[in-house]
Amino acid sequence: MVIGKPFLNVEQIQNRVKELAFNISADYQGKDILAVGILKGAFMFLPDLTRHIQVTMNIDFLIASSYVKTQTSGEVKIHADLREDVKGRHVLLVEDIVDTGLTLKYIRDMLLARNPASLKICAFLDKISRRKVDIKIDYAGFQIPDKYVVGYGLDYDNKFRNLPYISIFKEST
Ligand code: 5GP
Repeated sequence: MVIGKPFLNVEQIQNRVKELAFNISADYQGKDILAVGILKGAFMFLPDLTRHIQVTMNIDFLIASSYVKTQTSGEVKIHADLREDVKGRHVLLVEDIVDTGLTLKYIRDMLLARNPASLKICAFLDKISRRKVDIKIDYAGFQIPDKYVVGYGLDYDNKFRNLPYISIFKEST
């Protein structure tokens, strides 16, 4: 296993996160947000993002998994559901990375069935070339190539989430 030099460094990440928060604050003026972090991947992105959003908000978390090592399984398992009621709320889903889009589509559809007033998606990374389903990402941090990345909440086998930057993961042979 090799972790290379940062693909996105701390400064690039923090600057972009502030820009996203600024755009979200502008779009939600006069509305309260229900920010929903998808764990475990969003555990670093969500606090960085929300500390710069200047709109009243509630924060809740979903624990979901869809990935086995570096292969997308296509199956989404909800390990822990929200405690907040979604009905009539302005939901902002906060996700670490969108790859095929299957995970987000599943979660989005599950929450839309609970009748929110609105639902938007903020994803830190977007691997747009890998998309299998049509899903609109309202706020995307960075579009990245089809490489497996770790750090800033993203794992390989539940490791490397704590890196403060994004690195391209290479399995050593
Ligand atoms: P999707 O359902 O969009 O194919 O996959 C979404 C999930 O797969 C993400 O929430 C993340 O957990 C995982 N994932 C997709 N690409 C990567 C990647 O490059 N690195 C890591 N660590 N996880 C990924």
